[in-house]
Amino acid sequence: MSEHKAVRTRRVSLGGAGKNRRIDIGGGAPVSLQTMWKEGIVPVLTDQAALTAVLARIDSLAQLGCGVVRFAVPDMPSADALNKIAGGSSLPVVADIHFDYRLALRCLEGDVAKIRINPGNIGSAERVRAVAERCREKGVPIRIGVNTGSLPADVAVRVQGGDLDRAEALVETALREAAALDALNFQEIIVSIKASGGEETVRAARLFSSRSDIPLHIGVTEAGPLIGGIVRSTWAICTLLNEGIGDTVRVSLSSSPENEVIAGRAMLQEAGKRTGGVTLVSCPRCGREGFDVHGFMERWERRLYGLKADITVAVMGCPVNGPGEAKHADIGITGGGGTAVIFRHGAVVKRVPAAEADQAFAEALDALIV
Ligand code: SF4
Repeated sequence: MSEHKAVRTRRVSLGGAGKNRRIDIGGGAPVSLQTMWKEGIVPVLTDQAALTAVLARIDSLAQLGCGVVRFAVPDMPSADALNKIAGGSSLPVVADIHFDYRLALRCLEGDVAKIRINPGNIGSAERVRAVAERCREKGVPIRIGVNTGSLPADVAVRVQGGDLDRAEALVETALREAAALDALNFQEIIVSIKASGGEETVRAARLFSSRSDIPLHIGVTEAGPLIGGIVRSTWAICTLLNEGIGDTVRVSLSSSPENEVIAGRAMLQEAGKRTGGVTLVSCPRCGREGFDVHGFMERWERRLYGLKADITVAVMGCPVNGPGEAKHADIGITGGGGTAVIFRHGAVVKRVPAAEADQAFAEALDALIV
């Protein structure tokens, strides 16, 4: 356990009108999952099919367990595009803004649910005030995002001089940014403090949570590619969650938003912060001739995780060991010798030719969760 004691956080509600669901962060609300959109969004301004595709993908992210989706807003067309998306999104939409406060004001003309800025890089106090006042009018909170690449010059000098280590510098910067908003009587704040190293991220989050009741968004920034990034993020995020630190989570990966959400939901499950939903178990396969576990998982993983059902699904490589090893599964599939086998709680309920495996599994699944 940490020597630092986490302060119970205040509760902040993400706003947003239209179809957007409201979501609470902090104050004992369930820990939510976030992801970030990875493509430009300007085409939605002129292409209805592009808008429809973005909204459909947001729907599928919601089904996977995502609670909030963030978009980069680098210019005014992106701000206009985000307002179009926010008006139809089934998830709260966050605008991620650097440097130009006018982009935040433009986004606040629409249904964005949160603005992510660094007050320190937005410019003069008047500009920060303009954003905070508009956020207050709209009931939209602000996330202050601090990372080691954006420390204020005076703090960076103290780090170089040895007065502060980088975790302390991140916390000092976040508290300073929060104080700037507090001075404007704006307290609807969420803070993220991210370092690219897991240990530094954990130390900074512990220190911040011992000094502030502001809800904390946790994650490791630039965590890496899919596998290495998940390993690094899992250690840091689960360590913090197990200490009661962290109100909302994003797993930053050089991979798709869907993989970020799937990784995040597994972390929440491992940390005991999420129960229910589909649990997938599958064997690694071995040299025995059997069922194509890897191919089946590639085709079915997202679909299964998107189901609203509290079930365990097993995908096993051979009928000799598979059903027995996965006796606890509510439904499973395996096979060998050109045959696929559907089983429930270890007992075979159907055999079909391997080419009909997906259809037979889909029918058995439908029968189970109707
Ligand atoms: S279930 Fe069968 S195929 Fe899978 S690892 Fe075990 S023995 Fe190998």
